[in-house]
Amino acid sequence: MPIKFYNTLTREKEIFSPIKKGEVSFYSCGPTVYNYPHIGNYRAYIFADTLKRVLLYEGYKVKHIMNLTDVDDKTIRDSQKDGLSLKEFTEFYTQAFFKDIKSLNIIAPQKFTKATDYIDEMVKIIEKLLKNNLAYKSEDGSVYFNIRKFKNYGKLSGLVLEEQKENAAGRIKKDEYGKDNIQDFALWKAWDEKDGDVFWNTALGKGRPGWHIECSAMSMATLGEQIDIHTGGVDLIFPHHENEIAQSEGATGKPFVKYWMHNEWVLVDQKKMSKSEKNFYTLRDLVDKSIDPIVYRFWLLMANYRTRVNFVWEALEGAETALKRLYNLCLELGSNVGKVNSEYQKKFKEFIEDDLDTPRALTVLWDVMKEENLSSADKKATVLDFDKVFGLGFADLKEEKIPEEVQKLAKEREQTRKNKDFSKSDELRKKINSLGYEVKDTAEGQKVSKL
Ligand code: AMP
Ligand code: ZN
Repeated sequence: MPIKFYNTLTREKEIFSPIKKGEVSFYSCGPTVYNYPHIGNYRAYIFADTLKRVLLYEGYKVKHIMNLTDVDDKTIRDSQKDGLSLKEFTEFYTQAFFKDIKSLNIIAPQKFTKATDYIDEMVKIIEKLLKNNLAYKSEDGSVYFNIRKFKNYGKLSGLVLEEQKENAAGRIKKDEYGKDNIQDFALWKAWDEKDGDVFWNTALGKGRPGWHIECSAMSMATLGEQIDIHTGGVDLIFPHHENEIAQSEGATGKPFVKYWMHNEWVLVDQKKMSKSEKNFYTLRDLVDKSIDPIVYRFWLLMANYRTRVNFVWEALEGAETALKRLYNLCLELGSNVGKVNSEYQKKFKEFIEDDLDTPRALTVLWDVMKEENLSSADKKATVLDFDKVFGLGFADLKEEKIPEEVQKLAKEREQTRKNKDFSKSDELRKKINSLGYEVKDTAEGQKVSKL
């Protein structure tokens, strides 16, 4: 079966066929390192990671780049508030991000690119856009992209072009704005006092880049002028990705990205989780409630990346119970690893190849666990195989140390069962339960695990 992905650009599920056979060039918009990302942000990175894992599972060589936005309106504003240099400030949140993605079992990309390391590349693209008459300098020395001059402006976000471009008067210097504010956007921002000591002296003058040019430059510098996949959350479709297309294609004259893929929102009380709404949680909030961040990954996998999910603690606790159950079932399979079951693998592949249908792929995992006609060793091999895509850490599970008291009760229970004293053995089972453990009778004998 061919792999199919939903492409935001064509608004269709398309058969995936990379530019170079067997290889995928893949760019993900990464975090703005000005604060701890909230768990809504992590949906974007878990989605990108799942996509990468599917491509690897399908045998592709994947070159994956993720940027770190370490200079923009927000990083400058908040570093000044904290009285720190931009570098010190962004480095702190970069390290926090690295720690978080580890706890979510996200495979690090080949490279994290920092925007501040690519200023020269940004300047070169802007110079090209000036030369191609797609950009102009304003009175204060800033450079803007002229959206009326770029024929395809709006093709990704589906703007009703002519009408909106006609209405689009003036220009916007802010990095972030909405569809009701379509204007010429800043490629290069001439220095002003608010920027303090954040500036570069370049051929364009003293200033700093706009946010959108950063990703065009980093993607082209690391992966080339044309790439296969570019990801981010749906709120990046406009203006960020629309502007990336305008800048990149305006400079090279070639299609920039073949497949644009976007994850939907995490909501709270049916509203987008966001810093500005102050309705957000971070991974630290999960840890404070003794919930392993990997549970959040599992919870997200239960929904397709293109559907909105409403975050409530009860749902996460439900996911925690289910994941613990899967872990226990996996531990019960023992340590022998047999052969991957090809029937189940076929079903699994069918689902993940259908635009990453992880909810249905998870049902196959449950089916394998429940299958009675498979040996434990083959089940184990199949589970570990699927986990290359899920990334839930089944290979690293450790048998829990069962407290002595529970072990003693379990031994006693085994004896009472041998003596066919079932009412006593039932009593002992209840005692074991009350201590937070459960006991199961399997073909290989009695198994004790955490409830
Ligand atoms: P930012 O650091 O604001 O650029 O956001 C980082 C990533 O998180 C982007 O890909 C956003 O589209 C994504 N994002 C932001 N808020 C949410 C949310 N509530 N649900 C899902 N993704 C989000
Ligand atoms: Zn970006």
